[in-house]
Amino acid sequence: MTEAWAHVLVSSLHLFAVLVFTLGRVSMSRQLGHFGLLYRFTISSAAILVPTNLACIATPEGTVHQLVFSISAAAVACIAIMAWASRHRRDDAERPRTVLAIGAHPDDLELACSATLARLVDEGHQVHALVMTHGAVGGDAAVRPDEARRGATYLGLTSVEVHDLPDTHLEDHSSEMIRIIETAIQRHDPHLILTHSRHDQHQDHVAVHWATCRAGRNHPAILCFESPSATSEFSPTVFTDVGGYLDAKQMAVALHANQSDKPYMADAVLQGAATFRGRQARLEQAEGFEVIRLPLFRGIL
Ligand SMILES: [Zn+2]
Repeated sequence: MTEAWAHVLVSSLHLFAVLVFTLGRVSMSRQLGHFGLLYRFTISSAAILVPTNLACIATPEGTVHQLVFSISAAAVACIAIMAWASRHRRDDAERPRTVLAIGAHPDDLELACSATLARLVDEGHQVHALVMTHGAVGGDAAVRPDEARRGATYLGLTSVEVHDLPDTHLEDHSSEMIRIIETAIQRHDPHLILTHSRHDQHQDHVAVHWATCRAGRNHPAILCFESPSATSEFSPTVFTDVGGYLDAKQMAVALHANQSDKPYMADAVLQGAATFRGRQARLEQAEGFEVIRLPLFRGIL
């Protein structure tokens, strides 16, 4: 005999799981492995079992009620176990490292190297981000800084600073950028700095590159990432294996909804670039970096 309250309970738990996974899908897709599978299972289970349990309440009790309740309880238990078991392990890295990533515009880091940043975070390293502008020329400056913060939160970055220097005119503000970057280097003491390449057709990207080189003049490890506006001279010699992290990159880029009409935001473009650099690196998928300096024997990461 199964009381009505038991059917209400399992139905409520199903609906609660659907609500939590739907509202939290952006952050949970980074925190839980195989989130898509878990989400689909929860939705399908709720779609079948919630109406069935409600039908049980409205009909005279019988053994079928017990069966429906047992299946529903088992499904709820499966959802809970799957969610617990699929948590990404963020083991503390054997040698935790600190990385400082510097971009000109709110979406630059996500587009260029977010798969690498996500992997660094998952491996237990600290990643700090600096963004120089609100991106007012290329989009809506009222929303883009928040998109940068959401992207950083999604990736699990330790911190992000979004500055408001004039978009497209960064070359006129190199002293200010150098001061901002010097302060960040002093504060975070990074083992590795990531920045734009000089092989880029956007003047702001090139300005950030030179400001980083100047501010990091005494730093031993600086790599340059590949923006969609990189020129054909961009020639990476260091590659990061980002197999399993393309989804995270696509989601991080998609969070910049204000830029969604730009062709380089498309999943297929991001996938093509990762596959191309992966082939060069003899990996399945990779992000490529040019080297300013990289000490061979200090073991940066
Ligand atoms: Zn940019």
